[in-house]
Amino acid sequence: MSKIIWKQQVCSLLFLAMRKLDKNRPIKGRNLEELRELMQDYGEPAFRGEQLFRWLYEKRATAFDEITTLSKGLREKMSKKHSLERGKVITQTGDKQDDTVKFLIELKDGKRIESVLIPTKDRVTICVSSQVGCAVDCDFCATGKMGFHRHLDAGEIFEQYRILQDYSDRTITNIVFMGMGEPFNNYDEVIRAAALFNDDMGPNIGRQRITISTSGILPRIQQYTNEKQPYQLAISLNATRDKIRSELIPINERWPIGDLLKAAKRYTKLTKDRITFEYVLIEGYSDSTEDARRLKNMFKDINCKLNVIPFNEIDGPYQRPPDWKVEAFLSELHPASFPVTVRWSEGHDINAACGQLNTEKEPKKRSKKTS
Ligand code: SAH
Ligand code: SF4
Repeated sequence: MSKIIWKQQVCSLLFLAMRKLDKNRPIKGRNLEELRELMQDYGEPAFRGEQLFRWLYEKRATAFDEITTLSKGLREKMSKKHSLERGKVITQTGDKQDDTVKFLIELKDGKRIESVLIPTKDRVTICVSSQVGCAVDCDFCATGKMGFHRHLDAGEIFEQYRILQDYSDRTITNIVFMGMGEPFNNYDEVIRAAALFNDDMGPNIGRQRITISTSGILPRIQQYTNEKQPYQLAISLNATRDKIRSELIPINERWPIGDLLKAAKRYTKLTKDRITFEYVLIEGYSDSTEDARRLKNMFKDINCKLNVIPFNEIDGPYQRPPDWKVEAFLSELHPASFPVTVRWSEGHDINAACGQLNTEKEPKKRSKKTS
């Protein structure tokens, strides 16, 4: 087992042990039931838990002082023990309200993550991180190059929304788990955070407007399907042949394309929801017209849509295909039995910054791989 995967397993076990002791969970990140219990522990009626829920997730309070429905004495007592602020902004790019803005956020232990605000005409999307670094180690991804550091808890995932909504003049309408990390390697906290975003006593973001993206952690896709989780699911396919996909995304050795397609089909059948496939176009790896033809064939009986993302170049051997090749790929797809969208990386596009997050100053060195 690689060192990173081992570290991730140990972290997951510690995390599970911690979660059992709900009382150790920071207040931001607790659900309604836990907040009701908390208030009762402080000798307050349970309904105060509901008020606290609204203060945290709807009004986005960051200090007990703001929570005026609690007595001054209680606020003081609680603030001695708990902090409501889970992260602070270190830097942000862009300063106009219409710009895509990338935020570098520092968590309480000094670890840093990135989140992106993407306003467009008809929606305001945020791209949130689910882990510090990532253990999946995709060869083309800047986050993968950082290695895995730790999971985020639901409160830290929520804090990204809090910070970006505080900044934006417009209401955030959509959330994508496409920042740093593999959401399905931090399944429980991601689902808990999605439920907080979705709660009508909180941000009340519709289930169709919350998307969780995975590199293909098959057992978690199955769990997600069995549980009929209501949020949208996206799988990053990124190649049409196992040999290439395994080079790009090492977990493909364990959970190859055929198995992912079967799981995707099962998901759409059981949930009646459409699945999204993300497909990063990398020159010489995934951008041929044969790839486009194979995609059409693979997806012909799956209720899906395809998001084509021309690669955002980062340090390393991979390149974005020239525009004419992207166009040729798209025309080969046409007409397809599924909708196709393209995310040109410049401008106001969702993955403009999402796919290339890396907050470390000195990324791990890696060798050039060939196809
Ligand atoms: N770990 C999850 C979600 C985070 S990555 C996943 O892999 O799906 C979000 C998306 O960004 C993925 O589709 C990934 O393939 C893509 N991505 C990563 N690096 C990229 C880059 N440099 N350019 C374009 N897309 C990239
Ligand atoms: Fe992790 Fe996704 Fe990057 Fe792969 S593409 S290393 S799964 S964040």
